[in-house]
Amino acid sequence: MLIIRDLHARVDGKEILRGLNLDVRPGEVHAIMGPNGAGKSTLSHILAGRDGYEVTQGSVTYMGQDLLEMAPEERARSGVFLAFQYPVEIPGVNNTYLLKAALNARRKHEGLPELDGVQFLKLVRQKLKIVHLDESLLKRPVNAGFSGGEKKRNEIFQMAVLEPKLCILDETDSGLDIDALKAVADGVNTLRDPARSFVMITHYQRLLDHIVPDFVHVLARGRIVRSGDKSLALELEEKGYGWVEDLAGAEA
Ligand code: ADP
Ligand code: MG
Ligand code: MG
Repeated sequence: MLIIRDLHARVDGKEILRGLNLDVRPGEVHAIMGPNGAGKSTLSHILAGRDGYEVTQGSVTYMGQDLLEMAPEERARSGVFLAFQYPVEIPGVNNTYLLKAALNARRKHEGLPELDGVQFLKLVRQKLKIVHLDESLLKRPVNAGFSGGEKKRNEIFQMAVLEPKLCILDETDSGLDIDALKAVADGVNTLRDPARSFVMITHYQRLLDHIVPDFVHVLARGRIVRSGDKSLALELEEKGYGWVEDLAGAEA
């Protein structure tokens, strides 16, 4: 699904990713944890194809293709989805309109017929239930006036509609109360599938109480310095990130 090799990247001339390696197979859920400023969001933005990041070395292969050569829209069409750490408000753009266009672009790419308005609404109603969101949200501009929890649920809702192959969640759990956290976790667990993979960036262990990952990685100073299973997340919770920073420092 995803193979990242020796990835180096700069933001504003500053090297943020410094030799990152990661392998994600279909069906796997990978959690990436790490201290603030480690480069977690940088990694997710590079995978989504956001502007302003300069890859200076290394490769990213998605389903056998060079992901870094693909335009952001092309990545989205072919099944890469990023749930942002800070979802943006898009005043004036209707939530449903944007989603319908995105879904039909995805379906076209998969060789499926486009959905008309009625079919789309039926699908959307089904998916809203997964994240316990109210239908009135669909009529509002994207994320405009949404609470923090609603924005995050909206991201998961979009993901449920688009049925991506590779789902990247950047701190989707941050700032959520327990109900919203559960809604997000339910959404992800419902979408778990042998043909779909998740890269979940999280700062805290608590999301992993609800979504049990296959692998946990620690990202520090721009590279993965430790990989393990769920117990690694518990170890981090207990010991903090100081020792990983030391580890990263020793390797640098
Ligand atoms: P994390 O998500 O792990 O907290 P980030 O990837 O957001 O870390 O940031 C990694 C480093 O890159 C930080 O030192 C941050 O200040 C820097 N950085 C991120 N985005 C920008 C930007 N647009 N301009 C300048 N520096 C940035
Ligand atoms: Mg951060
Ligand atoms: Mg971040």
